[in-house]
Amino acid sequence: MSKEKKRRVLITGAAGFLGSHLSERFLSEGFHVIGMDNLITGDLKNIEHLFGQESFEFYHHDITKFVHVPGEIDYILHFASPASPIDYLKIPIQTLKVGSLGTHNLLGLAKEKNARILIASTSEVYGDPLVHPQTEEYYGNVNTIGPRGVYDEAKRFQESITMAYHRFHGLETRIARIFNTYGPRMRLNDGRVIPAFMGQALRGEDITVFGDGQQTRSFCYVDDQVDGLFKLLMSDYSYPVNIGNPDEITILEFAEEIVKLTNANQKIVFKPLPKDDPMQRQPDISLAKKILNWEPKVSRSEGMQKTFAYFKGLSKDELYRSEHKDFTAHNRL
Ligand code: UDP
Repeated sequence: MSKEKKRRVLITGAAGFLGSHLSERFLSEGFHVIGMDNLITGDLKNIEHLFGQESFEFYHHDITKFVHVPGEIDYILHFASPASPIDYLKIPIQTLKVGSLGTHNLLGLAKEKNARILIASTSEVYGDPLVHPQTEEYYGNVNTIGPRGVYDEAKRFQESITMAYHRFHGLETRIARIFNTYGPRMRLNDGRVIPAFMGQALRGEDITVFGDGQQTRSFCYVDDQVDGLFKLLMSDYSYPVNIGNPDEITILEFAEEIVKLTNANQKIVFKPLPKDDPMQRQPDISLAKKILNWEPKVSRSEGMQKTFAYFKGLSKDELYRSEHKDFTAHNRL
């Protein structure tokens, strides 16, 4: 008897933090996974362990150029993009291109292959929100020309063109608005608050809180996030859905939690608040609860312990590698 045909999923940004966890999840659900990444911010180390699997293949490709994948594709998960404020500053044009041109290429591919596509949008579409917590109906408060504008506006355009393909071409589309998510395989030197604090703890440095630390964030553990994304892809809902954990905390309180967790007795020091840093962020996940029957299960203390265990496992070399990745070569692309 012939084996049932495996469903095939293309994951862009597969060597990144979320992409690598999604690749694992889809493999464990019995899919054939085609990973794609240009490795500017992604790292093959995140998916090295998958290369031996027959159901995993990888293309080193920049999706802002024409994308070709042989054979059928049932699903596309579009997760390629720099995703930290420091990266947007260093590679602003690539950030704009991957959200706009890259998304256009993938929508074209989805149409060609008759595939369902889920795009990774973000809470950044709400900018520095004037509505709290943020519901999907809120249109946002974004500075188009600020340092985050290249990411925020690319993601807003991405939602727009995705809805246009849905309405005009009848493409099956899903839009996830992802709120701050953390876990193993975050890039240590990407400037985001969790790897920053954990790296500082491990190197015995001061913990750097930006501003007065009264800005808030709500952190979602990666397994919960991936579960929400999986359910959204399998749902029949085409409008944006917030996926995140509503458990909100100020950055100062969070820094204190990290000092306790890491037990390293570091000092908390204050640094200037970056421009357009949102003052508060908390997802309203009523919609996801209702239509996906999903909500996060992992508490911050459990998730942070697992994440810290990952960072503790990094080599000395990785821990002390120069602050930020050098993107000079990529700026010529
Ligand atoms: N942050 C901080 N110290 C750091 C890095 C970040 O206080 O060393 C703050 C940052 O200003 C922001 C919050 O932590 O208010 C979350 O920052 P992150 O870059 O992780 O994500 P985003 O601002 O995109 O939510």
